[in-house]
Amino acid sequence: MYIVSVLIEHPVHALDTNFDYLSHNKVIPGVRVLIPFNRQRVIGYVEHVEETFLSKEELEEDAGFKYQYISEVIDDEPLLNNELIELAKTMSKLTMSPRIACYQAMLPSSLKPATNQAAGIKTQLVVNIIKDGTPKTIKQKECLLYLKEHQDILLKDVPYSRSLLDNLKKQGFVEITEKEIYRQVKFREYAEKKIVLTEDQRRVIQGIIATHNQTSLIHGVTGSGKTEVYLALAAHYLLKRQSVIVLVPEIALTPIMVEIFKQRFGEQVAVLHSRLSQGEKYDEYRRIKRREVHIVVGARSAVFAPLENIGLIILDEEHDASYKQENKPRYLTSQIARIRAKTHKANVVLGSATPSLESYSRSEIGAYQLFELPKRINQKPLPKVEIVDMLEENRNRNFSLFSIALQKQLQKTIDDGNQAILLLNKRGYASFLQCHSCGEVIKCPHCDVTLTYHKDENKLKCHYCEYTTAPIHHCPNCGQDKMKLIGYGTQKIEEEISTTFKNAKIIRYDVDTTKQKNSHLKLLDQFQRHEANILLGTQMIAKGLDFEDVTFVGVLNADLSLNIPDFRASERTFQLLSQVAGRSGRGAKEGSVIIQTYNPDHYAITCAAHHDYKKFYQLEMNYRKTATYPPYCHMVSILIQAKNEQVAIETARNVKNYLDEHLKNVIILGPANSMIYKMNDLYRLRILLKFKQDKEVYVALNALNDYYNKKQKGKVTLICDFNPYSQI
Ligand code: ADP
Ligand code: ZN
Repeated sequence: MYIVSVLIEHPVHALDTNFDYLSHNKVIPGVRVLIPFNRQRVIGYVEHVEETFLSKEELEEDAGFKYQYISEVIDDEPLLNNELIELAKTMSKLTMSPRIACYQAMLPSSLKPATNQAAGIKTQLVVNIIKDGTPKTIKQKECLLYLKEHQDILLKDVPYSRSLLDNLKKQGFVEITEKEIYRQVKFREYAEKKIVLTEDQRRVIQGIIATHNQTSLIHGVTGSGKTEVYLALAAHYLLKRQSVIVLVPEIALTPIMVEIFKQRFGEQVAVLHSRLSQGEKYDEYRRIKRREVHIVVGARSAVFAPLENIGLIILDEEHDASYKQENKPRYLTSQIARIRAKTHKANVVLGSATPSLESYSRSEIGAYQLFELPKRINQKPLPKVEIVDMLEENRNRNFSLFSIALQKQLQKTIDDGNQAILLLNKRGYASFLQCHSCGEVIKCPHCDVTLTYHKDENKLKCHYCEYTTAPIHHCPNCGQDKMKLIGYGTQKIEEEISTTFKNAKIIRYDVDTTKQKNSHLKLLDQFQRHEANILLGTQMIAKGLDFEDVTFVGVLNADLSLNIPDFRASERTFQLLSQVAGRSGRGAKEGSVIIQTYNPDHYAITCAAHHDYKKFYQLEMNYRKTATYPPYCHMVSILIQAKNEQVAIETARNVKNYLDEHLKNVIILGPANSMIYKMNDLYRLRILLKFKQDKEVYVALNALNDYYNKKQKGKVTLICDFNPYSQI
């Protein structure tokens, strides 16, 4: 008899509780099982198994409760290996989230412990000869000859009719069987350039190869050839029969890096990102687990790829906020990468043109090795950047969204047959709908935010929950029909460009136009083929794109990211502007950039315009030091949310009192209303902790977490977010 300890995903038992079941047969840890639970059958994840020689009755007498038996074992093999099981436990402690949530984060959705809808192994029919001899007709004889030369051929590829094959099968000459196949992940193919690595690139590659069990930071300006460095490093570790994980920010960059790695390494590469279908993900996952591939390219969650013998983990654009997972488990990808690297004695490489302050400061104190790629390939100059003061434009009576300078440059770019990229970090058509008579603004009924107007669907949408509604014509407050659209998003700009500029052909690239499968590839392809001369988009277009004929980049409103109340607002703005500016002039032609802003003297903007990372770094570090923000301290953001506003407020006050009592060397800020006070019908307050040593913080927060999330059963939730990247 075996005692099987099972974790389940259950809203009421959301915390880490194991439930013990019995089994007559041996069960391997790491598989999923069906178990009876509260008169339902639920799926559980087997954590450990212990053999016992006691009977059920004896066990029950010892335990003081009745045992039940496992109903069914779902998997033949464990879903996760020992390394990943240990990692899940560590991650669970670091992020204070249930272990089951950590296992879930590591598996493709079709294999998650809570689901049992297998993505399905895809099969195709194959034909094989099983007996020699002479069939009835000449045609059949011909076919048999053909099949002799084409063993194991797919049925659909046989140039004879299905009925003829069925006939041969009936006579016992051939068999038609199902064969497992993998779904093919789509990517754009292109002709590869012959490349000789530069002196700089070789210095970096050699430097990294010489290190062991180290984290290195490559600070390389845009277009300095970082991707070639990654490729060369990957080739090196492959030769050593080690495997490589290449991580890129979600969505925007994954397809591009996938293309590049697939082109270079072909079948050795598996891809994992959110754009794949469930079936594709499942197949890619199985290819990795079966050790058929040795390189995995993907977004954040690919850091959990079940590769063996990892030699290198690369995080491209390491500063990107998408490396932080924003729901449980709220992990930081670089932290997970370093833990895995330690287990495998592997190297970690972080690459960026604008490294995060955390990473750059670590390289300054020697915790990371720093490698610089200060020049663009072929010594191409970085593009000239002009800052346009929009206040000045307004004073000169230009109230359009385009400054005179930008209008001239954009038209010239079009006229010269070149291409332009325009950045507006706001999607939708208008920002909101407002009554011109009484000033009433239309808000989401579930969230404390205005609804955004989307013209193509003629809908008002909430960008925080799923709420959509038809635009209204009469003000719900005063009843007059004076509703007006205020502000602008990418949709409206698209419209304005077509009326303002001659011969403008625009591709809009944002969350709304890239929803459909492979639509992002299609759009980039169209732009590559010059079917459009303007690529207009949100921050999704800022990174990684490498189009030779883009000679102009325009930033329509640099202040959008600057005005976000977050301590990283300046850093984000600097990064975004540097990244998007880097898209200009990457080919033979020189590029230029215009940044439109109401804050022309802000250091985030001026430093980006001068391509001066070091200066920005120094100024920003000064600010972080003075105001005590990372990297000068650690942070955790505690979100308290409840349906009942009073419960939320009271809980926040109690939490604050508890923390005041139990923490000594910690700065405690709040509670304050969260940036979006109401979201999805929940009232939200935040408490912020800043600290140097995390031990006492974990002790106190674990106690609070246990108390509120276990005992209060859903009335109020407490979410602890370590290294917070967003505080909306
Ligand atoms: P980064 O990632 O640093 O922005 P990329 O790796 O995209 O830069 O390189 C910019 C361009 O330079 C790409 O088109 C790339 O193919 C090309 N490139 C990179 N290394 C070399 C090299 N050694 N010789 C010639 N071209 C190169
Ligand atoms: Zn909403």
